[in-house]
Amino acid sequence: DFDVSLPFIGKDELGELSGSIQKLADDLERLKAERNEFLASIAHELSTPLTYLIGYSKVAMRQGLNEQERTHYLEIIIEESNRMKELVKNLLDLAKLDENTYTVTKENYSARPFLENIFQLVKPSFNLKNIRLDFTYDSELQIYADSLRLEQVILNLLDNALKYSNEHSTVTLEAFKKEETTVIKITDEGIGISKEDIELIFEKLYRVEKSRSRAYGGSGIGLAVVKELIDAHGGSIEVLSDVGKGSTFIVKI
Ligand code: ADP
Repeated sequence: DFDVSLPFIGKDELGELSGSIQKLADDLERLKAERNEFLASIAHELSTPLTYLIGYSKVAMRQGLNEQERTHYLEIIIEESNRMKELVKNLLDLAKLDENTYTVTKENYSARPFLENIFQLVKPSFNLKNIRLDFTYDSELQIYADSLRLEQVILNLLDNALKYSNEHSTVTLEAFKKEETTVIKITDEGIGISKEDIELIFEKLYRVEKSRSRAYGGSGIGLAVVKELIDAHGGSIEVLSDVGKGSTFIVKI
């Protein structure tokens, strides 16, 4: 025995329903627009370093350059290639993080070789821009984290510190233990971030004043990846900043 009775749909419910459908359609449109903006931005980020790579490769091939000049151009080529590599790595991670297929493997390791390696990796870019880089940590310090992921977090934060700093300033990294927590603090004396923007910078694609950030070579995905990697560790990230004076990013894992 079936009792087939349709629910009574009144005028209010119909209105509500068509309202919800309209909202869904609007959401879809917004998502499409966001996806397009994202793709356009990624294409732009990849094409800028490619333009440099082609240009500097041609220059490096010129006859009559001395050893020092050629090395200089090759350094720029390596620097730009590394930038692209980081960007592509961030993109792949962002896709994985969105699918929730992300796992972190925590292990205990000593901070010294880990941080020394990072220092050597980034030092040339700081030298090129005449920015001093200081690392301070106890040589006995032990870190409990996924080392590859934490390296990516630190590289992203140092890359930003470099990008948003002026020549002849200093960027510092401090690492220490507070009870069971590892704390990593990265401080710059750069352009700083306003209170309103601090709330938003960890969102995908958010750049403070898009045109300005683009001039600094930003894509707006670095911090979104940083945040998700730290969340995956069950850690936290905090920002203190003064516009015009600089910023400090504090990672706790
Ligand atoms: P981007 O590739 O644009 O740097 P991020 O996601 O890494 O993207 O950062 C988002 C925005 O946060 C940046 O565009 C920039 O406006 C701001 N920002 C990040 N780090 C700093 C910093 N150290 N100093 C000043 N502004 C920063």
